[in-house]
Amino acid sequence: MMTPERLDHFMARANAAYYAARNPFADFTTAPEISQIFGELLGAWAAVVWAQMGQPDPVLLVEAGPGRGTLMADVLRTVARVAPEFAAALRLHLIETSPRLRVEQAQRLPGATWHARLEDVPPGPTILLANEFLDALPIRQVTRIAGVWTERHVAGGAFTAHPCALDLGDAPDGAVCEIGEAARDWTAQLAARLMRNGGAGLIIDYGFTRPQHQDTLQALRGGKPVSPLVEPGTADLTAHVDFAALAQAAHTEGAYVWGPVGQGDFLTNLGLRTRVENLARQHPAGAAEFAAGADRLASPSQMGTLFKALALTNRATLPPGF
Ligand code: SAH
Repeated sequence: MMTPERLDHFMARANAAYYAARNPFADFTTAPEISQIFGELLGAWAAVVWAQMGQPDPVLLVEAGPGRGTLMADVLRTVARVAPEFAAALRLHLIETSPRLRVEQAQRLPGATWHARLEDVPPGPTILLANEFLDALPIRQVTRIAGVWTERHVAGGAFTAHPCALDLGDAPDGAVCEIGEAARDWTAQLAARLMRNGGAGLIIDYGFTRPQHQDTLQALRGGKPVSPLVEPGTADLTAHVDFAALAQAAHTEGAYVWGPVGQGDFLTNLGLRTRVENLARQHPAGAAEFAAGADRLASPSQMGTLFKALALTNRATLPPGF
C-alpha cells in the first residue's frame, strides 16, 4: 500500500518530472504557438508600459515559464521595431525549471539569463509576462463528504480522503474547493517585487473569476484528456486559475490590480483586428491563417473568454488592454 500524498505535493512532483523529461508541445498548444500576433500584441503592451514607467534604463523584461521561447521571440521582434530604445534598455530574464526547455529557449533567445524561481531574479524595474504558467502550479482540493470537509490525497492512482483542518463553510456533498496556494503565493511575491522595484506584471491564463465548487484538475497527453492520477510525469497536469484569489493576493501587497478581462477583449483592445489586416496585406498567402489564428485566440467559444488577462502595477496608471 502506497503512502497517500497530498494532491499539491503529487502535482508538483508529477509536473517537475513531466517538464524535465517530455516535450509538452506534443501534448498541448498555447496562444503564442497558435499565432505570432499574440506575442506581437504583448510586445506592444510591454512597450507602452515601459513608457508609462518613465522609460527606465536598464529595465528587466522577465518571462515566467517561456515554453519554447516563441512568445518572447515575437515580443522582442515587435519591440525592436516599435520601440528601439526599449529594446536597447531591456535585460532579458527567464524563469524556467526544465533543463530541456531552457535549451530550446536559448536557441530562440540568445543573451537571456535563466533562473529557477522568481526570487532569484535580480532587483530592478521589471516588466513580467506569464502566459499559461500559473495553471501548471500545484493545487489542493478539499471536498465535502457526508457533511464534512476532507482533503484529497493520491495513492495508487486514486484519490483518498483525509481529515482537513480547513473550514470552508457549508456546501452540498460532492462539492470540491480548489486552493491554488502556489499561484497565490507566487502572485503575492510578484506584487511585492513590483512595489519594491517598480513595474508591471501581466498574467494570462485560463480560469475563473468567482469561486466555484468544481474539480478542474486535468491532464493532457497527445492533445487528449487522460487520468491525472495514473502514470505521474507522463502528462501535463493543470488546473483553472482562481483570478479572484490572485487579485486579492496582489492587492494585499499594495499593488494596483487591473482586470481580469477576457483574452478576446484584451487582445481586441490592443489592436488585434488591425494587426490581422496589416499582416494579411503584407502576406496575402497567409491571410486565412492569420484570421483563423486570431479567431481561435479571441472568439468566446474558443480561448476568448475562458482565458483571462490580469495586470499588476505599482502605480495607478491604467496599462493598455484593460
Ligand atoms: N508560456 C509558454 C509555455 C507554457 S507551458 C507558452 O505560452 O507557450 C508552462 C511553462 O512553465 C513551461 O515552460 C514549463 O517548463 C514552465 N514551468 C512549469 N512549472 C514551473 C515551475 N514550477 N517553475 C518554473 N517554470 C515552470
